[in-house]
Amino acid sequence: MEIKLFNTMGRKKQIFRPLKDKKVRMYSCGPTVYDYAHLGHFRAYVFVDILKRVLKYNKYKVKHVMNITDVGHLTSDADTGEDKMEVGAKREGKSVWEIAEFYTKDFFSAMEKLNVQKPDIICKATDHIKEMAEMVQKIIDNGYAYIISDGIYFDTSKLKDYGKLAGFDPKQLKAGARVEVNEEKKNPNDFALWKFTPKGQKRQMEWENEFYFKPEQIDLAKVTAYAKENPNIKIEKVRSKFKLTVKGFPGWHIECSAMSIKYLGKVFDIHTGGIDHIPVHHTNEVAQSKAALKKESVKFWIHNEFVLVNNQKMSKSLQNFYTMHDILNKGFDPLALRYLFLTAHYRSKVNFTWESLNAAQNAYNSLKAKIASLDLNKRGGNKKVKEYKKRFLEIINNDLDTPQAIALMWQVLKDENLGDKQKYELVLDFDSVFGLKLNEAKKEIPKEIIDLAEMRLKARKEKNWKLADEIREKIEAKGYKIEDTEDGYRIFKL
Ligand code: AMP
Ligand code: ZN
Repeated sequence: MEIKLFNTMGRKKQIFRPLKDKKVRMYSCGPTVYDYAHLGHFRAYVFVDILKRVLKYNKYKVKHVMNITDVGHLTSDADTGEDKMEVGAKREGKSVWEIAEFYTKDFFSAMEKLNVQKPDIICKATDHIKEMAEMVQKIIDNGYAYIISDGIYFDTSKLKDYGKLAGFDPKQLKAGARVEVNEEKKNPNDFALWKFTPKGQKRQMEWENEFYFKPEQIDLAKVTAYAKENPNIKIEKVRSKFKLTVKGFPGWHIECSAMSIKYLGKVFDIHTGGIDHIPVHHTNEVAQSKAALKKESVKFWIHNEFVLVNNQKMSKSLQNFYTMHDILNKGFDPLALRYLFLTAHYRSKVNFTWESLNAAQNAYNSLKAKIASLDLNKRGGNKKVKEYKKRFLEIINNDLDTPQAIALMWQVLKDENLGDKQKYELVLDFDSVFGLKLNEAKKEIPKEIIDLAEMRLKARKEKNWKLADEIREKIEAKGYKIEDTEDGYRIFKL
């Protein structure tokens, strides 16, 4: 059955087919590891996880690459401000390398709690300086770059359709792109490929690199003046070219272009990220591939919507964020958060409240209790099983419609025409996409308690209220709570 996914490039649902064989090559923009990851990030990576699981459910193999941004992401999405990593290091009085290590670990520990499958390749920007510099050199060679006092910049006016991904006309400067005012830049949307360490500054993360320019690609008078001013810039003539030797660091966008191409090839299937990346980061990635390779690298751009708090994007800069530590301190199961994310489509906003998480936790508990109380000796016909599987596939293959898929799972559990065993098998099958660890539901509530609950259900049906009450007390004495529902009961661990 075909899979349809919403491609930001073109802004419509398209049939997805991998470029080669049955293997999907996919890249996700990873976190900038200068602070704790928050619920917004968690949603982004739960979405990626669902996408991967849906592809696998459709019998595709997936090669998934994710980067760790540990250099070059400045406090503004334009090319001004401090490096976020250096900000984190100053805040905590640690080295940038320590900051990166600490928050990378914290991030993956949260991912594990959310049952997010690890990418096949996790690559750090700082380990790929060489690849990034090589790609910048290609961009220079092809005539898309120029030098100003603080770095090497990409000339966006050289591309006819810069801004195509975001659907904006670069001449109009709309689509909310944050455009930095820098009089030295040729065009407002031009962005840094490489930044020079400013005069008199010593960065913890900086490298010495060489870039070669043809005479017509360089304004020699200007660059000589920059070199006079800043000892981190040197320019010399080497045979027919000018060699620029600089101390500095890569711009943020080049890391994802260089690493995705290194691990997935010049053209690959899917690139993911949050919608904030569309107008700047990903627009610039598209530009870089076109300039360096003369082609677009990505077939499907897929973006998740935001988690909001009081209708504002959850973000570190607004200080309105919650971390995994907050979730755990308040006694919530991280998988209840995963359940909450699944009840919204990845392309719709989620306004996070603790009440919504509480409701998700209750629903998740009920779901597990319902599964725990299934009697696997009760079998039913198989005809409906096939129908349900087909329906499930239709739903998830329709641009990952998880809210509908969750609703279908509840329908299965309530369907009187299915035997308990069939229900159990269907739910576990669906859970290979949901990743809610529903196979553990039965382990959590011991058989002894389920048996008591079944006895009590029988007593209630026979209107033997005294016996029903006695059994309830027994269940409670063993540390479980039982609640009556329309079609049976729910059991919770106290
Ligand atoms: P960053 O560490 O800021 O580069 O973000 C890592 C990923 O999380 C990116 O794909 C972002 O688009 C995504 N992201 C950040 N904040 C949110 C949010 N509030 N809601 C959803 N996704 C987000
Ligand atoms: Zn990226």
